[in-house]
Amino acid sequence: MSDEDRASEYGVTYGDLNRFLAAKGHLAPCGACGSDKWIIPLAPGFADGDEAGIVQLAGIRGIGIKGSLLVNTLVCDDCGRVEFVSAVHVKKWLDANG
Ligand SMILES: [Zn+2]
Repeated sequence: MSDEDRASEYGVTYGDLNRFLAAKGHLAPCGACGSDKWIIPLAPGFADGDEAGIVQLAGIRGIGIKGSLLVNTLVCDDCGRVEFVSAVHVKKWLDANG
């Protein structure tokens, strides 16, 4: 399976990602500056908020992950701090919580 196919397997909508982030407490104020304004980058080609972007972190070893980790990202709108959540965990939670 290509990296692109693998990323599309974990594609989620902006709304579903927001639901996961709210349920798991990821939308708490930024740990660096305290802002509660987060930006969720969109997938390339999506300007209407349909699909949240996925980033592949490559070259990871250990923690049960083979070579790479797919993540959704959050960017603090005030200070620019970037946070990641595992796209696999997001997809699993959405599959279990419709
Ligand atoms: Zn911040």
